[in-house]
Amino acid sequence: MSENTSAPAAAACPRCREPVDGHRFCENCGHDLWLRRGGAARAPSGPCPGCGANGTNTPNGFGVDEAGEDYCSTCGIRRDDGTEHIEADLGQVAGVSDRGLVHAHNEDAMAVGVLAAPDGQALVAAVVCDGVSTVDAPELASRAGADAALERLLHPSGPDMSKAVEEAADAVAALVDGSHGHFRNPPSCTLVAAVVDPGPEDGVSITVGWVGDSRAYWLAAPDAAEPARLLTVDHSWATEMINSGTLDAETALADRRAHAITRWLGAGGEPHPEIVTIRPAGPGLLLLCSDGLWNYYPGAEELAEVALSTLARGGPVAVARELTTIALNAGGRDNVTVVAVPVGPWDERGTP
Ligand SMILES: [Zn+2]
Ligand SMILES: [Zn+2]
Repeated sequence: MSENTSAPAAAACPRCREPVDGHRFCENCGHDLWLRRGGAARAPSGPCPGCGANGTNTPNGFGVDEAGEDYCSTCGIRRDDGTEHIEADLGQVAGVSDRGLVHAHNEDAMAVGVLAAPDGQALVAAVVCDGVSTVDAPELASRAGADAALERLLHPSGPDMSKAVEEAADAVAALVDGSHGHFRNPPSCTLVAAVVDPGPEDGVSITVGWVGDSRAYWLAAPDAAEPARLLTVDHSWATEMINSGTLDAETALADRRAHAITRWLGAGGEPHPEIVTIRPAGPGLLLLCSDGLWNYYPGAEELAEVALSTLARGGPVAVARELTTIALNAGGRDNVTVVAVPVGPWDERGTP
């Protein structure tokens, strides 16, 4: 599944199809005509892949069993809820989120968006969340967190990273209020969010905020003024032990608690983000990812080598696909989500 929408040259509102007259908001339905979003799952329609039943035997086509699974009420196989493999391509930003080869569900979520006046430069925002797999319904946490953060980053009043993370944390916490006590271990997730602001006056700036161990990388060519590097510092047990000088890296990483996260959104968590802003001097690629990628491929220089050559061939969606494929080929032991944002000046073929 791919959402490929070109820039709105719109003579008609994409939501209600009424003619529009150059204003930002559709006068008929209120749709924001400058805003494009992607990254949500869409449940596939059509007959059951197991038995061919057309699914009209229950009100919504398919039943839900005690574990909350979608299943075919004719043959009983579990239906893909649309999260197994998601692709989003908005041109200036693209992402792939995949269940991987081992986990039963995709508990990662991504949300990407572009805000651009018809003749203006685009503001790009992206969020990746990774549901904590030991809690109930982690996929609800990651979806709610990603959506709330993106909404705030593309708010008409301008991007505000600390508010975006705060609102994501509120959205995850609100899942408990809506659950009527059904969660024994309330949903929680990590978050990494970024906004790329073209900043007509003082040049492009990239602001990254994160909670937990999902990562952002700046990927640039080896000879770039601003070298490829990891922009985030994992909020994980091992990283905190190493950075505080309590343990050496080898000992910390060998501990079974090494990958336990120390901050998260949701119950019992420490939702305070760290936030960094960089102003790249030359072209590069901003990469957001869950640990399903970086557990296999942690090095910024190695990521840059693959990502920049792929970008030149196929744009950001090719980068997201290629890095996802690398994680799957390496074992795909976790859900993997990769979002790529080329930061100019690049020409149409992705060449600086
Ligand atoms: Zn409309
Ligand atoms: Zn069936």
